Amino acid sequence: MSDLPRIELNKSVYDRFMNLSIEENISQLTYIWIDGTGETLRSKTRTHYEIPKSIEDLPIWNYDGSSTYQAEGSNSDVYLYPRAIYKDPFLQGNNKLVMCETYKYNKVPTDTNLRATCVDVMNKAADQHPWFGIEQEYAILDRDLHPFGWPKSGFPGPQGPYYCGVGANKVFGRDVVESHYKACLYSGIKICGTNAEVMPAQWEYQVGPCEGISMGDELWVSRYILHRVAEEFGVVISFDPKPIPGDWNGAGCHTNFSTKAMRDENGIVAIEEAIERFSKNHQRHIKAYDPKEGKDNARRLTGHHETSSINDFSAGVANRGCSIRIPRSVSEEKKGYLEDRRPSSNCDPYKVTEVIVRTVCLGE
Ligand code: ADP
Ligand code: MN
Ligand code: MN
Ligand code: MN
Ligand code: MN
Repeated sequence: MSDLPRIELNKSVYDRFMNLSIEENISQLTYIWIDGTGETLRSKTRTHYEIPKSIEDLPIWNYDGSSTYQAEGSNSDVYLYPRAIYKDPFLQGNNKLVMCETYKYNKVPTDTNLRATCVDVMNKAADQHPWFGIEQEYAILDRDLHPFGWPKSGFPGPQGPYYCGVGANKVFGRDVVESHYKACLYSGIKICGTNAEVMPAQWEYQVGPCEGISMGDELWVSRYILHRVAEEFGVVISFDPKPIPGDWNGAGCHTNFSTKAMRDENGIVAIEEAIERFSKNHQRHIKAYDPKEGKDNARRLTGHHETSSINDFSAGVANRGCSIRIPRSVSEEKKGYLEDRRPSSNCDPYKVTEVIVRTVCLGE
């Protein structure tokens, strides 16, 4: 870190400008989209001379796709279609964050726009009211990409004391976590909890339950907010599913899922039917559960560190070494939801929720 230039500017000077009063009907809209990697987010901001009430009020926009791995320089315009709108926790006031879909010049979705097909699938299954809750794990890194709070040479003590830990020798970066939590609540994201994870500097937050397409929208925007909060503190967020090789836990996006039938009395029958369908589609799901069709998860789903092997499907009550876990409380109440533990921390939630609904709700 010592050889990296200083990047923090003077926040009190910044605040002076942020407190300037501007005309009341102006809104700054920050359009957010997924770039050609399928993993990283981009954003840019425009002025809108009214306060938008819904997504229909917002204009289509465009950007230079040749700079985001999404187009050739000679035909570089990619369109941004606004899809979901949230309060902006950074600029605050009338200002908004806008989650967008990306379309090529010929109005075809870009290769990494996986929302377009997800919406169709969610519409087909709308009568089953699919709910999701995703547990997003991540690591906080210094700007040199070394885990935050770790000794610069060598390693911290072995895993054990860090999960849900308290104390300056056990958890690193709680300011980031709490700021992100509040910012998500402010924005209208259904963040429902957070905890320190097994690897030091690793954390988790949960979003949900969210119905249908809103799961993907809210998780992506929550990731955007996390990157921006970390930027304010001069640290970096990693969603890599195995940021540190060796005896250190990887990072996942456990995806909790239910339909109305599963939540109703004796829904355990529907849960068991769903698990049967999952069991026949293991490889297909593994392909959808990280951006590299299973290659990222191969580093993480080893059968150790509270994971199941990438090669085998398994399910069990309260078993965290399974592909799918039925929570103890669900087994006791005979209704509720199941947990798919396979999706990686850098998964695209549009892809994950789409394949789950195709398999379980549409029987495809
Ligand atoms: P774990 O014990 O696996 O760490 P967490 O408490 O971290 O579980 O996360 C539980 C997740 O389950 C939350 O995201 C929550 O929104 C989600 N959830 C709870 N009930 C349902 C449900 N009926 N359908 C889908 N998801 C649900
Ligand atoms: Mn320009
Ligand atoms: Mn959890
Ligand atoms: Mn966890
Ligand atoms: Mn979990």
